[in-house]
Amino acid sequence: MFRRISQFCKQLFEDAPKTTAPTPAQIEPQTPELTSGGLSLALVPRDAHSISRKQISENALKVLYRLNKAGFQAYLVGGGVRDLLLGLEPKDFDVVTNATPEEIKKLFRNCRVVGRRFRLAHIVFGRDVIEVATFRGHHGESNEKISKANAEGRLLRDNVYGEIDEDAERRDFTVNALYYDISDYSIRSYGGGMEDLKAGTLRLIGDPETRYREDPVRMLRAVRFATKLSMTIDEVTAKPIKQLAPLLKDIPAARMYEEVLKLFFAGKAVANFDMMQEYKLFAPLFPQVDALLKEAPKGPAMKMVQAIMKSTDDRVNEDKPVTPSFFYAAILWYPLRQRAEDIAVESGLTLYDAFFAAMGDVMEQQCQTISIPRRFSTPAKDIWQLQLRFERSQGTRAFKLLEHPKFRAAYDLLLLRGEVEGGNLAKSAAWWQQFVEADETERLTIARSGNKASGNRNRNTPQRRRRRPSGAKAKAEE
Ligand code: ATP
Ligand code: MG
Repeated sequence: MFRRISQFCKQLFEDAPKTTAPTPAQIEPQTPELTSGGLSLALVPRDAHSISRKQISENALKVLYRLNKAGFQAYLVGGGVRDLLLGLEPKDFDVVTNATPEEIKKLFRNCRVVGRRFRLAHIVFGRDVIEVATFRGHHGESNEKISKANAEGRLLRDNVYGEIDEDAERRDFTVNALYYDISDYSIRSYGGGMEDLKAGTLRLIGDPETRYREDPVRMLRAVRFATKLSMTIDEVTAKPIKQLAPLLKDIPAARMYEEVLKLFFAGKAVANFDMMQEYKLFAPLFPQVDALLKEAPKGPAMKMVQAIMKSTDDRVNEDKPVTPSFFYAAILWYPLRQRAEDIAVESGLTLYDAFFAAMGDVMEQQCQTISIPRRFSTPAKDIWQLQLRFERSQGTRAFKLLEHPKFRAAYDLLLLRGEVEGGNLAKSAAWWQQFVEADETERLTIARSGNKASGNRNRNTPQRRRRRPSGAKAKAEE
């Protein structure tokens, strides 16, 4: 696959539409010069690359031209340039300029200045937002208001403005340090970005350890780009990851929520999970799941993680909707069961009651690393609760359950659990599948026949203990 992409890229660069016959000197990027930070810079003229303005969104072009007309430098940068060169459709178009956020604001009525760690201008066109950043500079003598790092070297604030060369040094990977210049349609390629793109190499700019310490999320980005672009992480770039992976624990949980969406909701969840395991990046994000994976590397928790990753990929690739509530309900199901058992043993509560206490605990603990918005954590808990009702409802009660707004997601989780555990749970899942897939009249027959194979009554989900009659209770207490 990797070979195919690199061949494809080669062809892409060689087949670039040419307006005038380029001289050989133009086709090869000019001899690279070095920036003050020691990063190489090669200029690739319009005739020697494949990006045409037609491929760039109208709104991004509007922003680029207006900045340029006002006398500012304006470039398309990052994923937009990289993906266009690879023949992929960019997710978004990012613009970078020497205008400050305040200057940008003056040029665009539809501009919002956002961000604290990075101050950025958002130019809003209805639902489309073009992000415009000002060139980042080096962190010289520290001024806490504009630049700040913590004891581990993590940048808490990064608002020092600079020139394009410095900006390039502050980007993460060489393939993300490609700048498309709107003034002459050339590309500035820093650190050998163009060559790395052709070779399919993901290489961090600068000293990898320092760059990961500045921003540990770069380790996750390495994995994400490697799988998305079928690239290989360069050896030097890959080396420190395993050792530095625990630094991810300190990333604000809200940012991590966004990163996890990008990792697992873009059609590459299986590949990203496998690579995250290889580099020990999964553990700091999902500590409760990881504890079970370590205990039993081939146990149900692992099977569930693999099943949810695969089913998310399948849905994304079929253009079906995916929701974080289902994802988190599934991935945390076995930690929830474990926690419920622990609570039951510690407190003497019934397993059924302990299950409810565990729901809050498990979700709260997960939210310390990944802050799952309430609009997803609440339905995730509904999906959990419904698991307890499936077994008890194999009969005419099944109709009631079917009406629950979270039925479908809960049923999908039941099917996954059936796949993971087999046995009686798989039989129970099969009963529900038959019921769900039947038409109205068949459903009635199925429901009336109830759960005939009563051996199906499994104890995979905690059961509500039958209450003693109140008189009996009173007697017992006497
Ligand atoms: P995609 O949008 O496909 O996820 P992208 O490369 O465009 O990929 P963005 O998060 O949109 O990623 O960021 C845009 C650009 O900003 C990147 O290409 C990179 O140059 C720079 N960038 C983003 N995040 C970081 C980071 N953590 N450290 C350094 N540079 C970064
Ligand atoms: Mg982007």
